[in-house]
Amino acid sequence: MQRAGLSPAPTIAYIQCDTIQGIVMGETRHTKVLIIGSGPAGYTAAVYSARAMLQPILVQGLQPGGQLTITTEVENWPGEKHIQGPDLMVNMQAHAEAMGAEVISDYITSLDLQNRPFTATADSGTTYTADAVILATGAQAKWLGLPSEEKFKGFGVSACATCDGFFYRGKEIVVIGGGNTAVEEALFLTNFASKVTLIHRRDSLRAEKIMQDRLFKHPKIEMLWNSEVTEVLGTEAPLGVTAVRTRNLQTNEVKDVPCSGFFVAIGHAPASELVKDQLPLHSGGYVQVEPGSTRTAIAGVFAAGDLTDHVYRQAVTSAGMGCMAALDAERWLAGH
Ligand code: FAD
Ligand code: NAP
Repeated sequence: MQRAGLSPAPTIAYIQCDTIQGIVMGETRHTKVLIIGSGPAGYTAAVYSARAMLQPILVQGLQPGGQLTITTEVENWPGEKHIQGPDLMVNMQAHAEAMGAEVISDYITSLDLQNRPFTATADSGTTYTADAVILATGAQAKWLGLPSEEKFKGFGVSACATCDGFFYRGKEIVVIGGGNTAVEEALFLTNFASKVTLIHRRDSLRAEKIMQDRLFKHPKIEMLWNSEVTEVLGTEAPLGVTAVRTRNLQTNEVKDVPCSGFFVAIGHAPASELVKDQLPLHSGGYVQVEPGSTRTAIAGVFAAGDLTDHVYRQAVTSAGMGCMAALDAERWLAGH
């Protein structure tokens, strides 16, 4: 049933269906705009390109809704004082679909950007061909890989100070990492914490010198050098962090550092696997776009959100870039 005021479901050209000895190998579908990724960037691109009557197909990937589905409270999405991350993403999907985008539960395993139309092969066996592609595959925070870290994720363990720092007002916090992110997070967290301990595995940071200078001068920040975190310690009911267990890598000394929040800041891994051999990357794997746009080095291919951005990494900035990508794609398609 079509609801009043909504666009009809998009009509997608159905090209072919390969059959070998009676086995359906998968269909090929063509769309003007293929959006890969279902985080804030992907869904915003879908809303805008659907409203431009481009009948986009959005492929969700293995994490429908993206990174915000692994958090709880989101307090910095404009218009929502408090919203649960998964709820926000369900709303975004519903919005994109209501505008006429087709959202598909599938995973793109390979992407050919060298030939036109662009071709994406999906895990389901479906092949998508597209005149324009919007890459919105995001990034994933790197974690230490400890079972106790996994257990307390969202309950004292976080990878996003901007998102979760507010919850540790007047409390002690530990940050791990030695790059710009760790130093930035540690400095930012001093706005809330009574004390921040930065743990690093070596005796020098790789962060920029000016950032290090600020860090070392800060009265609330203490360094713990040459150390690793071996376990996150906490309570069961309610689930919460009380300390991290550390080991000095030179002396083997074991020490528990009390904290209510443990922030892992050991880098982010952009999900650029699909395009790493086809597009220029920067800062360790982020897709390069022309400054002030979402245009990549290949005409008709656009990139948005955390996949391109190692600086802001926020839902609202990703959504903004998703909007830009849809507008860039619309203009590019109009010119071709
Ligand atoms: P992502 O959200 O990373 O989504 C990427 C999408 O791409 C996923 O849907 C994935 O399934 C899909 N994908 C990947 N590979 C493929 C593939 N091969 N085929 C198909 N699909 C694929 N930001 C805030 O503004 N406020 C917060 O409170 C906040 N809290 C956070 C809490 C946590 C724990 C984390 C990890 C991040 C938080 N962030 C927050 C940051 C925010 O989540 C990200 O900046 C934002 O989600 C990035 O959006 P994105 O659309 O670029 O990508
Ligand atoms: P990064 O530069 O790769 O630094 C990661 C840090 O985490 C390193 O110090 C590394 O230690 C440590 N680390 C990695 N794996 C670890 C593990 N398993 N256990 C303990 N420690 C581990 O990552 P980033 O800080 O996220 O920065 C990524 C990029 O974004 C960089 O290019 C950075 O300059 C940029 N960035 C810029 C800004 C800014 O300009 N304001 C802000 C943030 C990020 P080692 O040093 O021993 O390898």
